[in-house]
Amino acid sequence: MLSHLFSGNLYLLKLNLIILCCCFALKNNAQPIAELNSYKTIYALATNQTGKYIAIRSFKAENRKYILLTDPFTLTNRIEPAENYQLNNVELNNIRVIFKTSPYIKAIESILLNDKPIQNSGLNTPLANRKGITLTVDLCPAHKEMDRSIINNLLSYFNGASLPIPISFSISGKWLLKHPTDFEWLKQLQNKKQFTITWVNHSYNHQVNHLPLTQNFMLAPGTNVQAEILDNEKLLLKNGIVPSVFFRFPGLVSDQKLIEKVLQYGLIPLGSDAWLAKGGKAKNGSIVLIHGNGNETSGVKDFINLLQSKKNDILNKQWMLFDLSQGVVSSFK
Ligand SMILES: [Zn+2]
Repeated sequence: MLSHLFSGNLYLLKLNLIILCCCFALKNNAQPIAELNSYKTIYALATNQTGKYIAIRSFKAENRKYILLTDPFTLTNRIEPAENYQLNNVELNNIRVIFKTSPYIKAIESILLNDKPIQNSGLNTPLANRKGITLTVDLCPAHKEMDRSIINNLLSYFNGASLPIPISFSISGKWLLKHPTDFEWLKQLQNKKQFTITWVNHSYNHQVNHLPLTQNFMLAPGTNVQAEILDNEKLLLKNGIVPSVFFRFPGLVSDQKLIEKVLQYGLIPLGSDAWLAKGGKAKNGSIVLIHGNGNETSGVKDFINLLQSKKNDILNKQWMLFDLSQGVVSSFK
């Protein structure tokens, strides 16, 4: 009888633990991690009853070990307790073989095969041919407040059509630290389900100098690539954000070596085929780039004009914004 009761209690305890774990996994967008230790890059095959995933980071919080998981078929990241998975460390090359049919590996292989210009390497062509665009808004360090007209116009044009609106923010650590009010506002828009936000790593410092591009941004001498990537991820996690699998180079500037390095961290470099302020034109499926940090009003104006020109199509759901991960998945099926 006693043992029966005990096993019953154990069952309840297990159930509670499972519920707790699920809450953590589901709510991790809104749950800041105050203490975060031993943050490091790993490559492990993570398996549980729901499938196989790729663990790309591990860390400790409140004496528990967690992993950052990438789902190679949906290109979504999530945080999970490590104990919920069987973990096998593997080489990146093995990951490329195991998941060779996945959009994640197909996207990486295509980036490796394509030309690598000094500016705008990575995903830089329109995604699956659909009526609409994928909007990426860069938040490079700036003194000015965020250009909120981007969000306010999106809400007024799309409010009657479809919510939440998918949008990507390429966020730099220095922008986040200087703009806590704007950052909290973006998180609230996400919590209120007005927007679904993909948080793209845009480096921690986002250094820029007056040298030629070959020695500028992350190609500047002395750049610590690991710190630029991992410090920004840690900052996001501490602020209740799960970093996505995408990385946008500051200034879109990179070379072959830097691209290979970023891929080694399990991240997908994200370019653009329509940087509006530089004269780029948005086509169906375009990865549109504008700056939301207040330093590029011409690009924001072009974007708002684009919304105005598509007003009727938006109302009739013939033109919309697309989720970045879903767009890449459709393009690399
Ligand atoms: Zn930038």
